Parts: sequence; structure tokens; C-alpha cells
Amino acid sequence: MRVLITGGAGFIGSHLCDRLVKAGDEVICLDNYFTGTRTNIAHLRDCPNFEFIRHDVTEPIRLEVDRVYHLACPASPIHYQYNPVKTVKTSVLGTLNMLGLAKRVKARILLASTSEVYGDPLVHPQNEDYWGNVNPVGIRSCYDESKRLAETLMMDYHRQNHVDIRIIRIFNTYGPRMNEGDGRVVSNFLFQALRGEALTIYGEGKQTRSFCYIDDLVEGMIRLMNSDYIGPMNVGNPDEFTILELADQVRSLIDPQLPVLFNPLPSDDPRQRCPDIGRARRILGWQPTVALGEGLARTAADFRARLMQHA
Ligand code: NAD
Ligand code: UDP
Ligand code: UDP
Repeated sequence: MRVLITGGAGFIGSHLCDRLVKAGDEVICLDNYFTGTRTNIAHLRDCPNFEFIRHDVTEPIRLEVDRVYHLACPASPIHYQYNPVKTVKTSVLGTLNMLGLAKRVKARILLASTSEVYGDPLVHPQNEDYWGNVNPVGIRSCYDESKRLAETLMMDYHRQNHVDIRIIRIFNTYGPRMNEGDGRVVSNFLFQALRGEALTIYGEGKQTRSFCYIDDLVEGMIRLMNSDYIGPMNVGNPDEFTILELADQVRSLIDPQLPVLFNPLPSDDPRQRCPDIGRARRILGWQPTVALGEGLARTAADFRARLMQHA
């Protein structure tokens, strides 16, 4: 199988590269290194079934492949708000180009969509039939709305051109290789804790998220690609925590004495988020296996090693 992974040098993409290279696929990793790094894929460079292409998905490209995992897009608020117009171009034009490619070579294509398509949800937990509550003109819109349009493009290429599509709606995912500076809550808390700094809680910390460990997510993504299911599929961990509870878990793992610091809540920050994974359970036989405490410990070990390297 010849597999193209766009955004393959990023956090999720590099773990997917690892899995598919190990499985013996011919993996082409395409990335423009906006938020991804050479370090994430350095260990793969000498593998005979791994190839890297530096390219921006907003530009057309012709490649011959059987499958496309389309992940290229900045994912954290700091990065997708850095150049919001570029984020829209990446999500919309990038998906259009990958769909054009998939149509031309008759490849199956999977879009990495997001729980953000549900916005600040009025339905809880969120299942795939919920249409969401998204602000079209806020500071998160460049990401949320362009992912919604990317999903629309996927469905229309399917209906109009019979492209074989899969759509995964990824909920907050964490693990080794998370970008240190991307401002996500798990990486912020763990790096702060390992440096002995106060944990920064935005708002009162009563907002909720559900955190999925990277290995579970990648397993769900591969199962969805290999399934027959057309249409959106939630993949995430349904164990829901407030940000205060997450801070407590990090403190008890690293240093119970660590102070917390309350900062203002960013605008449009969703109040609660938790996936209904009934569809993934039924159709993929998938559910997460790594509990938050275990996943945080594995992630902290990676971050500690990275800090030692830079020391
Ligand atoms: P990441 O920032 O680590 O990875 C994104 C990758 O895409 C990076 O390697 C980046 O360099 C690359 N990229 C960005 N713009 C590009 C462009 N124009 N051309 C080529 N490459 C480009 O983020 P991640 O967490 O690994 O996210 C991967 C995908 O999963 C994204 O599409 C994101 O929207 C989606 N997702 C992630 C999460 C999460 O919790 N991490 C949640 C929901 C959805
Ligand atoms: N495209 C691409 N690689 C391909 C085939 C198409 O990047 O192998 C791009 C193409 O340049 C276009 C987009 O995908 O911008 C949509 O292609 P499609 O054939 O659906 O539409 P059209 O080219 O007719 O606009
Ligand atoms: N958050 C926080 N402290 C931080 C970073 C984030 O309290 O240092 C909060 C943020 O306001 C949000 C939640 O944690 O409510 C998850 O933020 P993240 O950026 O990781 O993911 P997203 O908001 O995209 O789900």
C-alpha cells in the first residue's frame, strides 16, 4: 500500500508514520514544517519505505498513491490564530487539492477533522448527528469553520465524484512529541510542572475536555481508514475532566506542592466537550485503552527527556 500522510511531521502525523512504516506500507510524508519538525521524523529518515516531501498543501501536487491521510493543518489555537487567513487556505484549499488528487488516482482519503466542528456545544456529550454551535466570526472561526467546509468538500466529492472518503472527528489528543510551545493545556501543564512553575489555569478551570492518548487515537484512525464507513466518526476518550481536575492530576504526578495561577479565559473557549463514541465502538470495535494518569506519565517521561537534551 502506498500511503500519503499530509502533516506527517506533526504530532499526530509522525505517530501515524511510525505505525504505517512499521506495518510495511510505502509511506510518503508531506509537510511544510509550519508546526511539524524534522526531529519528529528523524528516526524514520533511513527506512527504505519512508520518504519525505517538503510541500505546502495549498499548492497542487501530483503523486500516485492508494491512500491519503490528510492531516496538514495547524491544530492549536496559538498556531491557527497566528495567520488565520493561511489557516483557512490550508484547511480549504489543502483539502480541495488532496480531494482532486484522490479523485485522479482513485485513492481513499481520510480527513482529520475535529471536535471543534461542534463549537461551544449545546448537546452533551456530542454525537455525530449534532450540527454544532459555532461562531462564524470569532477568533476560532478560521479553524472551526474551515474544518466544517473541509468536511463539506469531502462529502460533495463523494456524492459528485464518488471519491472514497473517511472523516475522523478528533477530540483533544495528547502524548509524546506534542509541540512544547503550542499552548495546549496538557503540554503547558506538564512543561510548567517539570520546570517547577505554576500551572496556568484559564478562567475558573471549570470548563471540561476529554483527553485521548495518542496511541489510542492512531489505532482509531487506522481502523476507520480500513472500515467501510462513509461520514463523520468521533474518535476520542469519553472520560471527561475539568481543567482543575487535570491540573490536580499533573500536580499529583509531578509535584503536589505546585501552585496554580488563574489567567483570563480566551474568547469562544468551549465550556464543555466530551465525545459520544457509540459509533466508533459499534462500527470499529474501538475504544480507548490508556487512562489519563497512565498517558500523562508516559508523556511526562518524553517531555523530561526533551528538557534534559536541551539542558
Ligand atoms: P501539528 O501542528 O503537530 O501537525 C500539523 C502538521 O501539518 C504540522 O506538521 C505542520 O507543519 C503541517 N502543516 C500545517 N500547514 C501545512 C501546509 N499548508 N502544508 C503542509 N503541511 C502543513 O498538529 P496535530 O495535533 O498533529 O494535528 C494534526 C491534525 O489533526 C490537524 O489537521 C488537526 O486539525 C487535527 N486535530 C488534532 C487534534 C489534537 O488534539 N491534536 C484535535 C482535533 C483535530
Ligand atoms: N489537484 C492536485 N493533484 C492532483 C489532482 C488535482 O493537487 O493530482 C488539485 C487541482 O490542481 C485542483 C484541485 O486539486 O486545484 C481540485 O481538483 P479537481 O480535479 O477536482 O478540480 P479542477 O482541477 O477541475 O478544478
Ligand atoms: N487552558 C488552560 N491553561 C493553559 C492552556 C489551556 O486552562 O495553559 C484551557 C483552555 O482555555 C481550554 C482547555 O484548557 O479551556 C483546553 O485548551 P487546549 O488549547 O489544549 O484545547 P482546545 O481549547 O482547543 O480544546
